[in-house]
Amino acid sequence: MGKKFHIITYGCQMNKYDSDALRGLMESRGHRWTESVDEADIVIVNTCAVRQHAEDRALGRIEEIIGHKKRKPSLVVGIMGCVAQEHGERLFEKIPGLDFVVGTDNLDVVADIAEGKLKPGAYTSINKNFLGIDAAAHIEPGQVSAFITIMRGCDNFCSYCIVPYVRGRERSLPPERILQQVRYAVSRGVREITLLGQNVNSYRWEDVDFPALLDMVAQVEGVCRLRFVTNHPKDFTPKILDVVEKHGEKIPPAFHLPLQSGSDRILRLMNRKYTLSDYMRIIEEIYRRFPDAAITTDIIVGFPGETEKDFESTLAAMRDVGFAGVFAFKYSVRPGTAAAKLEDDVPEAEKIRRLRTAIDLGIELARQFSQKHIGKVFPALVEKKSPKNPGKLAATLPSGRTVLIDENFAEIGDIVPVKITDAKVWVLRGEVVEK
Ligand code: SF4
Repeated sequence: MGKKFHIITYGCQMNKYDSDALRGLMESRGHRWTESVDEADIVIVNTCAVRQHAEDRALGRIEEIIGHKKRKPSLVVGIMGCVAQEHGERLFEKIPGLDFVVGTDNLDVVADIAEGKLKPGAYTSINKNFLGIDAAAHIEPGQVSAFITIMRGCDNFCSYCIVPYVRGRERSLPPERILQQVRYAVSRGVREITLLGQNVNSYRWEDVDFPALLDMVAQVEGVCRLRFVTNHPKDFTPKILDVVEKHGEKIPPAFHLPLQSGSDRILRLMNRKYTLSDYMRIIEEIYRRFPDAAITTDIIVGFPGETEKDFESTLAAMRDVGFAGVFAFKYSVRPGTAAAKLEDDVPEAEKIRRLRTAIDLGIELARQFSQKHIGKVFPALVEKKSPKNPGKLAATLPSGRTVLIDENFAEIGDIVPVKITDAKVWVLRGEVVEK
């Protein structure tokens, strides 16, 4: 008989996709999803190791769930994802009561464990050929947007990052498998697809590179909007922009292009393999072709050796680009990475001050970017009823910003022309207009 299961997901969109694929696999094998941890026979926590804080939160949640075993001794609790891969069976000592540990290359064993075909235990072997769970990822009824993973792992070894160690070497999925997932999502009513990878720009399957794949996906019938994350500045080429241009409104000019630092010296220490000038050349090319482009970024402050001057260069670069959104983080050491060998010499209070400054500037730039929408008309994809604004629908603009519109003028899933009337930092208001 099928088991009732629940998955809790931490971390990036790739983890969210893995959880949805696991849900799809479990359901295809007769197990039933439950929203409630109390009702579940199996609870799996999908974890993120990018920052210590994320890891601690996930482990704390697992301990709390294991507490339910007092009431229900048959409950099975497992951990999957990057923390599972990083620590392996050591987690059994750290978390008494944990039943299984499933690493990033072994996600499909969860169904076998649920069915008693495999014993609970640690499954963390490296499998360079693992391309992810081969099942249609779960799609909620009425879901308008879906993420689809096109590659796994990363070969870049940015010095601060644990991902290449826990997710392994870069592997691209065959185009046909990706197209199948896209067709399935569209057949379930999805209108917007986001292609996912740690560095989608280095996608390659035989002679199909990322621009070619993007072009193929854009041509799938029913795909109304197409996005992709994450890009790496060293691999972002004009060929990608050619495909974006070719498909007009279908692929919005919205690019997440992590800068990390505006100082060449820090970029070298981070092993990012580009300079600020390289980065700015890409930005110029994007704005030349798409003057309204939304460019978002990641910034790390307080990296080992970062001086006030380095930090000022980062702030200057942020202003020069005029980012639509900035995800700023404070550097934290990840044991096992190359940067862990550098002296973590920026005092904590100074890291916090720089983080606050970068966040504040990011918010100001985001506000300016949002205000540029006012008075213009954009196609908006209606995603859902706005949870906090009765009578309003939340729609997504090409830039990625949310716009609230009157629910009498559109249906969920529609793409409607909206004139922007007001803009806060992240959320805009607008009216549906005639084309
Ligand atoms: S590109 Fe760099 S930051 Fe991104 S996952 Fe790979 S190593 Fe980590």
